[in-house]
Amino acid sequence: MYRQRLELTDRVAVVTGGSRGIGLAVVTALEEFGATVVIADVLDEAGTAAAASFEGGRVSYVHLDVTDAAEVERVFADVAARLGSIDILVTSAGIANHQPSLELERETWDRVLAVNATGTFWCAREAARHMQERGGSIVAIGSMSGELANAPQRQAAYNASKGAVHLAVKSLAIEFAEQGIRVNAVAPGYVGTELTKEGVPGDWWDDWVRRTPMGRLGAPEEIGSLVAFLASDAASYMTGSVVLIDGGYSAW
Ligand code: NAD
Repeated sequence: MYRQRLELTDRVAVVTGGSRGIGLAVVTALEEFGATVVIADVLDEAGTAAAASFEGGRVSYVHLDVTDAAEVERVFADVAARLGSIDILVTSAGIANHQPSLELERETWDRVLAVNATGTFWCAREAARHMQERGGSIVAIGSMSGELANAPQRQAAYNASKGAVHLAVKSLAIEFAEQGIRVNAVAPGYVGTELTKEGVPGDWWDDWVRRTPMGRLGAPEEIGSLVAFLASDAASYMTGSVVLIDGGYSAW
């Protein structure tokens, strides 16, 4: 019974930001548990190649910029029409920004909030429209940065965007509970992906590792396992939760 509740056979999942990093690990986990998965991302080449790398034809790619509300609406409607339903949504599309607040341009603040917070909300809302009858599970990739302000980098826009994700998740969990739609967030600490490598000085990594009790960064697959659990019936009594997965970073 317990093993069976982790099964995702016959479930249709959309993973935004699934072309690489944490999103791609989530795609791999959901596919392995039996789901049919649609990668929705702006990285067309990487996403198409990633989808093609799965045997069995249950993973496909679609272009989606999560900041474009009309495109979000169209893509979710297309997926539901093509595959019959949307049962799982994982929002992993996200961008980071490291800048002291006094130097931050308005456009950068707006962009970070648009992708991470508004994009997550809009995708969740649109997925929920297609989950009204069968129920479903929405898992947002938030961040421990939605619960605390990291050091040594300065990233107020990113932290604010993830705080918004966490509270939107709790709000939607309450609104959608009656329809059998569960909404949770996963809040990772530092994970070794392009996001943490791009434009980041090496000594920041050393600092992050030093501040993490487990003494290492997380791997994308470690986030994938948790997301697969939350997406499945094994987490049937979980909604409105923000689950930290950070090697102990926030436990100090
Ligand atoms: P990544 O850069 O490897 O992957 C992010 C993906 O999102 C990319 O494929 C990118 O093309 C896609 N994306 C960006 N903007 C988009 C848009 N407008 N529309 C659609 N797709 C878009 O980064 P990652 O580390 O895998 O991060 C995934 C998620 O996890 C992000 O939300 C990030 O904030 C969060 N997170 C990451 C870490 C970490 O340490 N890596 C920690 C906590 C939370």
